[in-house]
Parts: sequence; structure tokens; C-alpha cells
Amino acid sequence: MTAEFPLFYCAKCNKETVYRTCEYCGAKSDLKYFCNKCKKISMMKSCCGIPTKPYNKRPININHYIRLALKRSGLQMPQLVKGVRGVWDKERLTEDFMKALLRAKNDVFVNKDGTVRYDIIETVCTHFRCSEIGLSIEKAKKLGYTKDIEGSALENQNQVLELLPQDVILPDCKEWHDASASDFLLRVCSFIDDELRFFYNLPPFFNFKVKDDLIGIHIISLAPHTSAGIVSRVIGFSKTQGMYAHPYLHAACRRNADGDELGIILLLDALLNFSRKFLPDHRGTRTMDAPLVLSVKLDPMEVDSEAFNVDVVDHYPLEFYEAAVNCKMPAEFTGIKRVNDLLNKPEQFEGLKFTHDTSTMNQGPYVSAYKTLESMDDKMQSQIGLAMKLKGVDATDVARLVIEKHFLKDLKGNLRKYSRQGFRCVNCNEKYRRPPLSGKCNACGGKIVLTIAEGSVKKYLEACLNLGKKFKLSPYLQQDLMLLERRIEGLFGRAATKQIRLSSF
Ligand SMILES: [Zn+2]
Ligand SMILES: [Zn+2]
Ligand SMILES: [Zn+2]
Repeated sequence: MTAEFPLFYCAKCNKETVYRTCEYCGAKSDLKYFCNKCKKISMMKSCCGIPTKPYNKRPININHYIRLALKRSGLQMPQLVKGVRGVWDKERLTEDFMKALLRAKNDVFVNKDGTVRYDIIETVCTHFRCSEIGLSIEKAKKLGYTKDIEGSALENQNQVLELLPQDVILPDCKEWHDASASDFLLRVCSFIDDELRFFYNLPPFFNFKVKDDLIGIHIISLAPHTSAGIVSRVIGFSKTQGMYAHPYLHAACRRNADGDELGIILLLDALLNFSRKFLPDHRGTRTMDAPLVLSVKLDPMEVDSEAFNVDVVDHYPLEFYEAAVNCKMPAEFTGIKRVNDLLNKPEQFEGLKFTHDTSTMNQGPYVSAYKTLESMDDKMQSQIGLAMKLKGVDATDVARLVIEKHFLKDLKGNLRKYSRQGFRCVNCNEKYRRPPLSGKCNACGGKIVLTIAEGSVKKYLEACLNLGKKFKLSPYLQQDLMLLERRIEGLFGRAATKQIRLSSF
């Protein structure tokens, strides 16, 4: 197998390896450097007047590494082990092959930073009953839930409890075809136990068998496009395909408190397998979507201020409705306590209250319509349909927002990308910034094709134009769309018009 591998070398055994620790004697190996100019391998960080690299492209005997991992783990070769085509970090570091084997054995898949992830929609929750989330009284007490919201001792599973800010309720919905979060976590825990046992020669940590064992474990919640994760604790499972968590926790992930998606990582997985060094060495990619910073303790003062607007009431007073009838501005009505008023006081962590009780949280929809509706057109039609049914919502404004915030950006972005795209060979996948003059692939003579399809540029145009007309949106927006249509037509040509023979008249 040929790829770029790091140049580790064991002086004791006089052998080359791709690992940081020599697989023959267990000693720490030294890193050597390759000179691109004279092709020499040395201990020098520069050669021939240019900086050297701690890796080179070379064939390695992959069977050697596979056999080694199988021997050390005592495992049979799994049917399928997934890997990557190459690594793009600065030093081309590779994980020990045994980790890949153990992941394959436990049916979990690695993320680019070395961890295993589960993506989940964020849902807000402030109160729960043990009966709703499969939590026993004994376990609830151990987790710190000793009193209900009235202050009475916890005695039965139907008392209402206030959710602690770093506790989360995960989905275990067998009705939805996605694997449930509990099955996922059990597999990750089993992988970590295997890793401890076979890779680190340590006793297993979890030894979990059933869903109930997962209660109390620690995970990291991490929002996409951010790099700060927050430690959270799993206290139970609901049927809703989403993560129920405190408004503070959602705000700590710096996302809007509803409808966004975040990733969860088992804490021990991140501690053992995450490495900043695995992240690609491209500008911008190093700091995104990876838990570079970890908050252990949530401080409400430090979270996104959106959470400060949560009302702290058990009912809205008559004066509030009267103020609403008289169209008063929100700032003019000060009769309602908000989280903002509790910050830095002991009350910030409890007593958030709620207005309407439910018998069980498991009676709502299990899955967001965003997941069940397949095409973007369906999603948009449903959103507009809902807006038209709701008296308090201005459907025209929803149409404007959908176009402005989503479709228009997408259309313009794709149009720009289309004219700056690269090309590739259908045969050997060789990439070209410009197509070769011969019109054929220089490497194999194969056909050269575009990397961005015409369809991906045009896909939302029709829907936008229709929406604009249907809701009589502002002339500015409609003309913006018309200009875009012209630019697209200028690039791809007008949609073919049907030619009719004179004789058909
Ligand atoms: Zn050695
Ligand atoms: Zn040189
Ligand atoms: Zn080719």
C-alpha cells in the first residue's frame, strides 16, 4: 500500500515504522525528515536550503501492521474495516491499526478528529418526570434529584423534577429507523472497553450490557462549526428523536435553542482518541467541528445571551395580555421575570417554572418534519403551508425570509462556485484546475468532466421565482431574482422552447 506516512525510526532495532512507538521493542521511536529535493532522509529539519518534511510517500507492508494488530488483540479479521484514502495533517500521523479493527468489531465509525460521533437535533427541556425517561427513583437520587419542584422528597416516578443545566435526555426511538442513541452509546462504550483491554492493557471501564447502564455517563455536546464542547451527563431516554437539554446548555453550545443539530461524543472516547494533530492542515479546518476547548462547568453568565430571554413564570398575568392587545413594545412591559434577572444569583440554577403541564413528553411527534420530508421543495411547501395557517405569522414575511436567508445565498454561492470549479477525469479521478488542451486526461486519456453539476446551481431558482410571484414580494427582491435568472440563463442558455412546425397551424 502506497501513501504518505510519517518517518518514525527505532534506533535500537534499526527499523523504520509508521508508529510513534516501535512495534518490535516498545521503545519511543525518533522522527526523521525527508528532503523533497535530494530525496535524502535525515534528522535535519532543513536540507538543500528548503524545510524538510516528517513524512514521505512510500509503500508499506500493510499486512505486517494488520497481523500485528490481530495478534495483539486476539481478534479475527472483521469482514469490513473502513479507513481513509489519506491523511492531511501536518505530520501525516496514523492511528494504530488496532483502533480501526476494534471500531469495526463494534460497528462504530471514526470522525476526522479520531472520535466517534452521533448527530442529534436540539430540543429544549426544563422539567421532566422519571417515568418519562426511564429513570428509577434510586438512580435519580444518586444523580442528585432528591426533591421535586414543590420541594417534596422524591418518592414516585411521576413527580415533576427540574432538569439540572448539564443533564441531557437522549433519544431511544425504535419507531424511527435511525439507530437509537442508546444503541450507539452501548457500542461506543464496548469499543472503549476493548481499546482499554487490548490496546492499553488496562481493565475495561464500562462493562455495560443494557440501556439502563448508560444512565449517569458523561458525554461532550458540540455544535457544528464551533470548537468548544461542553461536558454533559446522560440521565435518561425519551422517544423523541432529539436531545432534550436545558436552555443554558443549548446556549452554551452557542446555537439557537431549537431545531439545530449538534454532535455528541462519549467523553472517554474524546480523552483517549481525539487528537488535534489528526485534523487536516488547511486554514480554517483546524478549528472547526472539533472539541479543542472543553467546558467542564457551565456558567450561565458565559453562555449565549439568547437564553437570558427565557421567561420565569408559572402563568402569564392578565396585564400581559392587556399590554399585548394594546400593542405595547416588549420593553414597555416589565411585569415578567426573565432569566436575565436571575443571573449571578443562586436562583439562576433552579426555579425556572413552566406554564402548561403535559402528561408525558413521549406523546408529541417523535421525529422532526425536517427529517421525514425528503425534498427541499416539500420542506418549503410545508413551512409556507404552516405559516399560512397560523394567524400570528405573516406568511409573506416567511416567504421573504426563506428566499433571503437560504435560497438566494445558496443560488448565488453555487453560481460563483460553478464558474470557478475544477475538473476531473471520469476514469482515474485525476483532478485538474483547468481542462487539458487535448480535451482528454493527461494520465489515462479518459473523459474530463465538471465537478459541479448544472442542476445544483439551478435547483432552487424555479421555487424562488414562484414564491416571489405568489406572495407579491418586494420589487427589489423580485428583481434580484430576475437578475439572477438572467445570469443563469446567460451561463447555461435559456430552457429549450418547443419548436412548432408552420404546418401545425
Ligand atoms: Zn525497536
Ligand atoms: Zn536535500
Ligand atoms: Zn484519467
